[in-house]
Amino acid sequence: MDSSQFREAANSAIDEIVQYYDTLATRPVLPSVTPGYLKPLLPQGPPEEGEQWPQIQADIEKVIQPGLTHWQHPKYMAFFPANASYPGILGEMYSSTFTAAAFNWICSPAITELETVVLDWVAKMLALPDCFLSDSPGGGGGIIQGTASEVIVTAVVAARERIVRKNLLAEGFTSPDAEEALDRAADIRGKLVALGSEHAHSSTQKAAIIAGTRYRSVSAPRNANFSVTASSLRSTIEACKAKGLTPFYFTATLGSTNTCAVDDLEGIAAVARDYPDIWVHVDAAYAGSALICPEYQHLTGPMSSFSSFNLNLHKWMLVNFDCSAFYVKSRKDLTDTFTLTPAYLRNSYTDSGLVTDYRDWQIPLGRRFRSLKLWFVLRTYGVKGLQQFIRKGIKLGEFFNGLVDSRPDLFTVVTPAAFALTTFQVSPGNGEPNANSDTDEANRLTKAVFEKVDQQREFFITSSVVGGIYVIRIVSANERAEEKYVQEVFETLVKAAEKVKRGV
Ligand code: PLP
Repeated sequence: MDSSQFREAANSAIDEIVQYYDTLATRPVLPSVTPGYLKPLLPQGPPEEGEQWPQIQADIEKVIQPGLTHWQHPKYMAFFPANASYPGILGEMYSSTFTAAAFNWICSPAITELETVVLDWVAKMLALPDCFLSDSPGGGGGIIQGTASEVIVTAVVAARERIVRKNLLAEGFTSPDAEEALDRAADIRGKLVALGSEHAHSSTQKAAIIAGTRYRSVSAPRNANFSVTASSLRSTIEACKAKGLTPFYFTATLGSTNTCAVDDLEGIAAVARDYPDIWVHVDAAYAGSALICPEYQHLTGPMSSFSSFNLNLHKWMLVNFDCSAFYVKSRKDLTDTFTLTPAYLRNSYTDSGLVTDYRDWQIPLGRRFRSLKLWFVLRTYGVKGLQQFIRKGIKLGEFFNGLVDSRPDLFTVVTPAAFALTTFQVSPGNGEPNANSDTDEANRLTKAVFEKVDQQREFFITSSVVGGIYVIRIVSANERAEEKYVQEVFETLVKAAEKVKRGV
């Protein structure tokens, strides 16, 4: 493809992209294809001779669109959103244009330096404590990763190696590569246990599997609003220690996946101060974006007691997937673990110690130019535009919660609207006080209603089980979300609940 063919193809692609978004609400949110739909529509192998762009582009509508689930659709209310935006798309275009595996500063100084600057902007927008800024005296800073799961693996591995190094030093091993030190390090690792709330995202347990450590969950029952309290964390830590294990890491959650619960961050900060060897990470993958609104910023107060924090800017901040911000209080904790500099990676800038080489803060070597799309989004919407967007989602959540409350004969809210997410059950009774509150029956009815709505495929919603309670989750927080769709999903749920309760 030469440059004039590219111009023509790109113009045509942009026209199609704009048309896609302009007509998105008229498409079904969910595909109707069956598993394996794609293979028969494609040739057995790649073409021998190159094809023309119009022929390739035509297959987007014919072959790809039928198999898409539309996450930007206003009837998408599942999981959490993964918001895209036009400035985000433009950022991706330029990033692809300047493709570079920018692992060292010299591999593309703008890529490293823009990332540092915009992550400081984001930290200030969120009112994170200054210890997470790149110029903080303690040597903090932020880095962009692909996903929260990658962030959490990175944090768990760094935490594991931090405690191993500390113990070896305390035991007098001055040469960590000596055979005896390596043996002792293996013993220490064998006793390590990572902790997370029973409602922490599964990425924490997966990170412990990858890091080769044990994992224990901390209870967070319904009477604590599914949040980890200081006392439950403390008692899990002590129970692990009593068994001869070493708790070394804990994920505190700000906005759990099931219900958007927020762990007791103040109380956990006090625990963190009592157990300074435990790396406390705050996973704010989805709800962290709400911290740009002053009404949520009281949540960041305790964070100076924690080692790290993450939020997915690709969930609720209009930055196209993928863009997960990871902040650490001490970047040395990362570089002490991940810096390996074979001869082929050496250069005078690295040797000077004056530059950031982000490869030393992460697991992969190569890295994408993700800060560009973030920069474009921040500049296009401004802080006020982003606050407005977040508040729209919060309001829609409260609107849905109000609708559910208006039908006590059919529904019971399990967790009220939090960060735009409401969870609820179908009530077995008739809404009267002291009516039947049988959990098994409520679970059965709720599952039946969920399955009915799911089978209709008009909306994409999800369910979960939290503390033994089967819940339907509704979160309407993408850019095209509107009150009329929230009203419609509610009416669909009402019809399904009436039928299920009548046994139809
Ligand atoms: N943490 C929380 C609280 C989440 O809700 C999710 C996903 O929804 C994740 C982590 C994992 O996110 P990712 O897909 O970026 O790994």
